[in-house]
Amino acid sequence: MEYRRLGKSGLQVSALSLGSWLTFGNQIEDKVAEELMDIAYESGVNFFDNAEGYAGGKSEIVMGKILKKKNWDRSSYIVSSKIYFGAEEKKPNMIGLSRKHLFEGTNNALKRLQLDHLDLLYCHRPDQNTPIEETVWAMHQLVMQGKILYWGTSEWSASEIMQAFYFAEKNHLVPPSMEQPQYNMFWREKMEKEFLLLFRDFGLGTTIWSPLASGLLSGKYNNANPKDTRFNMESIAWLKDRLLVEANLKKVDRLKEISDKLNISLVKLALGWCLKNPNVSTVILGASKTAQLKENLTALEVVPLLDEKIMAKLDSILANKPEFIEV
Ligand code: NDP
Repeated sequence: MEYRRLGKSGLQVSALSLGSWLTFGNQIEDKVAEELMDIAYESGVNFFDNAEGYAGGKSEIVMGKILKKKNWDRSSYIVSSKIYFGAEEKKPNMIGLSRKHLFEGTNNALKRLQLDHLDLLYCHRPDQNTPIEETVWAMHQLVMQGKILYWGTSEWSASEIMQAFYFAEKNHLVPPSMEQPQYNMFWREKMEKEFLLLFRDFGLGTTIWSPLASGLLSGKYNNANPKDTRFNMESIAWLKDRLLVEANLKKVDRLKEISDKLNISLVKLALGWCLKNPNVSTVILGASKTAQLKENLTALEVVPLLDEKIMAKLDSILANKPEFIEV
């Protein structure tokens, strides 16, 4: 396993990590969740990603039970939660980024995960109803209380993140350390354009999500209709409608030609492509089956194969490379 600095923080995070969205407490049995965490940890993964909103809090409960049972050295792993969407109930003040929900949501996440502190806490989305100043103060205070060690954002715009940095700097508060954006071959704008100044001037770390575009970049939907997959979950039919479209499938077919030529799987090509971006601190993997995770955990091997020529070929297929801006 390779370890990367989380931005300019002192935290070392495994380049591949494991997330629990849609799987833990939902799509998979707890036994499989435990096997996945075991395989990941034994391969050197040190970061497990979670959120209050995943399976209405059940994902944290499942992960907490596994961590308790494993009894791994607490300093050997990093656990996150994210606040914004709420857990079981969504009444006013049970969602969002107010000081009240950040404090109560963090305490509830700690209880569900059976932990004394969270290593990372994210503001899961920007909250138009809470001043960024209130959120930055609350995050700073959570750090001071020892309940969280580092804080960050997820799917915030560059200007929102910059506001948080400037406010923290002006008031000598702990600034955000990381952002969790979507990043994969189909979704590049933020990582390759919008955030460039944040990487250069603020040393922002990134923990990127959906590296396989929810499994689409495995190629398993090309000329096939597999049954036991995420795209068959009714609760997220919108995701299937958005991703499983002819234009994407055509590109996947052409990407497969490249991975075949390189003699590697398309999954590894897609994950290696994310890992190659030096502004990625960690690629958060998702898996519903142990065999998937075992394959995905070998993706670092293929990064050296992705030379300039191959990257240019991939860009010509993807036809979505953000225009370069000099920073
Ligand atoms: P991916 O895009 O990698 O999708 C993972 C899914 O793809 C798996 O659950 C599995 O689904 C399928 N898959 C994985 N590996 C393979 C393989 N080798 N062969 C075939 N199919 C495969 O990542 P996620 O979308 O799961 O995101 C990863 C993590 O990022 C999440 O768990 C979560 O922690 C985080 N996240 C954060 C968000 C945020 O807003 N901050 C939003 C979304 C995710 P199946 O078997 O069902 O087809």
